[in-house]
Amino acid sequence: MFDVIIIGAGVNGAFVAYRLAKYQLKVLVIDKESDVCNETSGANSAIIHSGYDPDPKTLKAKLNVMGNSLYDEICHDLDVEFKRIGSITIACNEEEIAALDKLTNHAVANKVPFTILDEHQLREKEPFVTKKAKKALYAPTSGIINPFELCVALMENAMDNGVSLHLEEKVKQIIRVSEGFQVVTEQESYLTKIVVNAAGVFADEINNMVCPQLEKITPRKGEYLVFDHFTEPYVTHTLFSVPTSKGKGVLVSPSTHGNYLIGPSSTFIEEKDDESTTKETLNEVIEQAYRLVDYIPMNHLIRQFAGLRAYHESNDFVINQPIPGFINLLGMQSPGLASAPATSLEVEAMIKEKIDLVLKENYQKTRRPLYRLNKKTLAERNELIKRNSQFANMICRCEQISEGEIVDAIHRNCGARTIKGVKKRVRPGFGKCQGGFCEPLVMKILARELKIDMKDVRFNNKGSYILKNKTKGENDDRL
Ligand SMILES: Cc1cc2nc3c(=O)[nH]c(=O)nc-3n(C[C@H](O)[C@H](O)[C@H](O)COP(=O)(O)OP(=O)(O)OC[C@H]3O[C@@H](n4cnc5c(N)ncnc54)[C@H](O)[C@@H]3O)c2cc1C
Repeated sequence: MFDVIIIGAGVNGAFVAYRLAKYQLKVLVIDKESDVCNETSGANSAIIHSGYDPDPKTLKAKLNVMGNSLYDEICHDLDVEFKRIGSITIACNEEEIAALDKLTNHAVANKVPFTILDEHQLREKEPFVTKKAKKALYAPTSGIINPFELCVALMENAMDNGVSLHLEEKVKQIIRVSEGFQVVTEQESYLTKIVVNAAGVFADEINNMVCPQLEKITPRKGEYLVFDHFTEPYVTHTLFSVPTSKGKGVLVSPSTHGNYLIGPSSTFIEEKDDESTTKETLNEVIEQAYRLVDYIPMNHLIRQFAGLRAYHESNDFVINQPIPGFINLLGMQSPGLASAPATSLEVEAMIKEKIDLVLKENYQKTRRPLYRLNKKTLAERNELIKRNSQFANMICRCEQISEGEIVDAIHRNCGARTIKGVKKRVRPGFGKCQGGFCEPLVMKILARELKIDMKDVRFNNKGSYILKNKTKGENDDRL
């Protein structure tokens, strides 16, 4: 019998697991995917919004501002890359200036620090900003984060502290029983006192398995363009358009790894697994981005992707308990990532009303830091190489990732099991060649470390094998 089963290992599920790990509880996280952070939490703008945007009356406003303030300590403890680079919201005409003034009122009500910039101050901060820009709202507490690293670190810490994670188990049925709930997956059946539904765009389906009040989540797709890092100066803050009813609009932003992101679009769709991109939508994204900047480095474009927002008819976050012991996280669209540290505290408080939360004596607050060879000095690298020669074998030339870092990413708690899992944890394949050079080498390391055949190495979920048969010769032994 579990105390708590969390359905979903995105940022919300991982944060709840991290919060509960410090108590003497039996906690299980279940996800249908092959890895944590495989759905919306891994396909977003990665902005820790300051909180000036949401209407002050909403739950979004409360949790965004609180969540933002909690990130420094958590990222420090868990060794997650997070930078408070500040955001600038740009108005180019009278209508947008009026909308910016409304945002200013929200910023005051939500107690978010900000400054209003005129054209000259704006251009001093961002030389590539459009010449049409008239006025801007600068929010210094806005930040950028690596969401993959965040989810993995949260789950790793939770597992270091005794939480269990079951991947590739789809929840099919939930039955109310006298002790709480029976959660039935494609493989197993578990009893639990409490269920936390953190299933993202599928949270309505989980709710509707057991709750009399039916819910509906509609996926709203956002498409992006990703640019490689380059040495010439470009944007150093997150640049936003003035938000509209469709969302925060297109942004131009650096990422924690020095890449640049342009997007997202905003379109309601039918299918919850449709993460395709189209040339037409991406062209619209580029057009929108030219309303923010006069230059887009198209020659550095390396990929595109899409993520799905979990839209609920309230257009707000809904954290409720429709039946005792069943906690829903519904409508967790943007700023769900920024809010997640605070969302998880709300869930923890709801659980506290049901079960006595007794602290563990041997709770580990931090996780072992990553090696991050590309951030180290030559002397520090040499020191590492002396201890382990795998750090001298450069596997990803674009992102400068060594074999030692990949091996470490496989053998930690919540370790990588697939090529995408390695990519999310230590970045080989994120660079200019998009895995063209490093992917076969990563496959060999995965096969060797997991003691499986090369043919059984997957890119991501079940069935996504890369190799079918050997065509000629023996394996080369470069590794
Ligand atoms: C385009 C876009 C841009 C965004 N930008 C930002 C931003 O800049 N800042 C910000 O704060 N927020 C942003 N967001 C919102 C943020 O990404 C989300 O709020 C957050 O990622 C939601 O996390 P989650 O854990 O609730 O959902 P998810 O990450 O989707 O996780 C849900 C998990 O549940 C699992 N699951 C579902 N059904 C089942 C089942 N039956 N059995 C087992 N497992 C199941 C899924 O596999 C998945 O792993 C953006 C979202 C989008 C789409």
